[in-house]
Amino acid sequence: MTSVKQFHVLVVPTPAQGHVAPLVKLAHQIVDHGIKVTFVNIESAHKKFVTALPDTYVERQGMRFASIPDGLGSKDHRKDVLEVHEIIQNMPHRFKEFIEKINGLEEDAKVDYVIADLTANWALEVAAEMGIKRAGVCVTGPASLALTLQIPKLIGDGIIDINGTSLKDESICLSDNIPIWYTDEFVWSFPSNPTMQKICFEHASRKSQTIKFCDWILCNTCYETDPSACDLVPNILTIGPLLASNEHSHSSGSMRLEDSTCISWLDNQPAGSVVYVAFGSAVVLSHEQFEELEHGLASLGKPFLWVVPSNIANESVSKFGKVVEWAPQEKVLAHPSTACFVSHCGWNSTLEGLSNGVPFLCWPNFVDQFHNQKYICDVWKIGLRLDTDKSSGVFSRCEIKGKIEKLLSDDGIKENALKLKEIVRGSLANHGSSSRNLEYFIEQMMAD
Ligand code: UDP
Repeated sequence: MTSVKQFHVLVVPTPAQGHVAPLVKLAHQIVDHGIKVTFVNIESAHKKFVTALPDTYVERQGMRFASIPDGLGSKDHRKDVLEVHEIIQNMPHRFKEFIEKINGLEEDAKVDYVIADLTANWALEVAAEMGIKRAGVCVTGPASLALTLQIPKLIGDGIIDINGTSLKDESICLSDNIPIWYTDEFVWSFPSNPTMQKICFEHASRKSQTIKFCDWILCNTCYETDPSACDLVPNILTIGPLLASNEHSHSSGSMRLEDSTCISWLDNQPAGSVVYVAFGSAVVLSHEQFEELEHGLASLGKPFLWVVPSNIANESVSKFGKVVEWAPQEKVLAHPSTACFVSHCGWNSTLEGLSNGVPFLCWPNFVDQFHNQKYICDVWKIGLRLDTDKSSGVFSRCEIKGKIEKLLSDDGIKENALKLKEIVRGSLANHGSSSRNLEYFIEQMMAD
């Protein structure tokens, strides 16, 4: 008797927290459809990811976590953006070798399809070269992607130069329903760090090329929250928000150990009382800003849960609230004690807050975060923004305290947040737009 070959998909993230997490969630959903998935991480990210798997994780049939060497040997400076950039240069031939090795093993293991982060353009280009069908995943909002697709036109119109630097002080409007960008708010803008800007701009520019290699663009959002931007992206299928499964045995994609003591702490707080503060994986506050936040939170007279990376942890903060190095964020946002989310507005955090109906106090820093803030405050009206103190250049303790109090007493914002939660959850329910799109994608992927 001959066995039927199981369809085999490689899922490839960019090696950063905000990319690995949504792609792992997507990978689990694909396995749910009886498809075999190999999740291919760069070695250094793979190690962190595997180390952070929860104790409850059980290996799933059909899901394999694999890694490709990053070519940096024993050097361990991988946090440095330049090192990550160097790793990426090594990837095309390593990825090709990886696929050739799998394909050479046995007929049953052969790779049928590649799903890769749009920023992991090397994976999509190698798949194209090897004649393997492929889809790109957009882990930012559709508006950020739509802007990226405009790069050639922005250069042609003399608005930016070939390094992404603004040449004119103009605002960019892609549609009446999409908030405008000022030229210092582009996803690649780092006015004070030209090297960083150059790298981010190269990645952004490449996306508009990479998209041409893809049969589909899977976007981590739902159509209903931003139809105008979705309509600007060719071959888009909105399949989000990609959320952690309720299955305890699945991974949420964390690359750091989650401190679950905060959940039992939340269990002991009154309903709707806790201010949750977290700025994702890359934001580092200045010492002065950290102190203002610490004092602002302490003076609130309310319980708070604050994610403070170990390198800047300050013992004194813990007596005013609960401080953890890394939280199971989706569980925190879904907890009935959580009242609001002081957030850097990273796209995953934005979607996780939306999906749980939690109002935001926005604290954007870079890349797409300023534009996400505009969606939160101006389009969806589910949050407030902070104003910088003109003399110190930081958010003052009074501003932080005052805005949290204002947010918590705003019934309109709460109502909007709950309405949006229903819309987003509806898209994920049976026959909702995102779940229909995922089914459609899987059918198309496996056709012929
Ligand atoms: N996250 C988490 N625990 C934390 C803080 C963040 O699990 O204590 C997760 C969060 O749920 C989200 C991701 O880390 O899925 C951060 O992604 P986001 O796009 O918001 O920000 P980035 O880290 O890319 O700046």
